[in-house]
Amino acid sequence: MIKKQASCNDEFDPDSLSFEQALARIKESIQPIKGKKNVTIREAAGHILAEDVTSPLNVPPFINSAMDGYAINASDIPSSTGDTELKVIGKSFAGKPFDGKINSGETVRIMTGAVVPNGADTVIMQEHAEVKGSYIKISSEHKAKQNVRNPGDDFFIGDTIIKAGERLSPAKLGLLASVGITEFKVIRKPVVAFFSTGDELKGVGQHLEPGDIYDSNRYILFGMLEKMGVECIDMGVVPDIKEEIELTLKEAANIADLVITSGGASVGEADFIKIILDEIGEVGFWKIAMKPGKPLAFGHINDTVFFGLPGNPVSAMATFYQFVQPSLRLLEGESISAPVKLQARCISKLKKRPGRTDFQRGIMSSDSNGQLIVDTTGIQGSHMLSSMAKANCFIVLTRDAGDIEEGETVEVQPFNELI
Ligand code: AMP
Ligand code: MG
Repeated sequence: MIKKQASCNDEFDPDSLSFEQALARIKESIQPIKGKKNVTIREAAGHILAEDVTSPLNVPPFINSAMDGYAINASDIPSSTGDTELKVIGKSFAGKPFDGKINSGETVRIMTGAVVPNGADTVIMQEHAEVKGSYIKISSEHKAKQNVRNPGDDFFIGDTIIKAGERLSPAKLGLLASVGITEFKVIRKPVVAFFSTGDELKGVGQHLEPGDIYDSNRYILFGMLEKMGVECIDMGVVPDIKEEIELTLKEAANIADLVITSGGASVGEADFIKIILDEIGEVGFWKIAMKPGKPLAFGHINDTVFFGLPGNPVSAMATFYQFVQPSLRLLEGESISAPVKLQARCISKLKKRPGRTDFQRGIMSSDSNGQLIVDTTGIQGSHMLSSMAKANCFIVLTRDAGDIEEGETVEVQPFNELI
């Protein structure tokens, strides 16, 4: 009888780590890069701030109006009954303050964002004021200090407005601009080198010989890395020759913070990635109980983080998404939290064998009641990129789960902009 060895298709492989264990090991072993650089506000989008930023200003810097209307002193609001007439003595527009003072019985026409003049502390919406020549009439139905924005409402001088380690989103760039800060220190972007391995692979534009296929993974990786805003170096296709892969890998590890290969990560005769990593670096793990993506080599070559992704394009994408993406964030020193998952009603039957965590490709949408539903993209072959291209989420099925019947609730992980 033939003695069987653990294979890539086995659902229960005693040597493979669970998805969660793999992620935990990655988190433990990645050290943030130290390099910082000065950037101007226009260069800063997407970078991680390297130092806390404190505000040199109160924001808002002065008391200003939240409405178009009339600035008054609250003591002029009539008591429970009756109306009051106030004389309009001037205007305060945004950027053009009224430079006098308001006395009792007086008001100033004011616009949103304009300084509330001396002597005033309250704004009456223009819709609530009856204009009579150079007077306005107001009722008793107003509250003292309404419709004004006070200095420091948002934050005060000296408050930390963004902490080191936070990613500079457009809102945060706006926040920095709002206090007049135009230059600051950020963490430099990680450098990522990648190449494909496989005798059968041709770059687009090359002639295909019998048995050849086009290399999709480098284009996928390029797209995803670009979206992550890292500096990427495409090192091409390397044939399944151990010495050549080893040489390219060493060169890549010398120039990059993180190296990604695809293909050759399994146990076939032309699969050298794990063997080479063992020789020139350290293997963290190389098999994960997930589908797609079981043969995934992770480790280090000196200080460089290494991922040997599976060759099948869907597996390469899924493992990049689940593991390389958080690793790059960790390299930049960002703290990462578990991805958002939602509950959805599955509207088709899903095949699943217990043993591995499945990341099936799904299309989520709302039904006519506004409830989240998810459909499968169809056959789940890890060589079938069209199913990934159609999908907008992963349907995440836990390791122990079996087949899913139509109508069951499942967990979905919506794709972010990377896919
Ligand atoms: P491997 O991991 O090298 O055993 O490859 C597994 C499968 O993925 C094989 O069918 C390969 O031809 C295919 N494959 C490997 N690398 C690529 C690539 N860069 N683009 C498209 N398919 C690939
Ligand atoms: Mg191969």
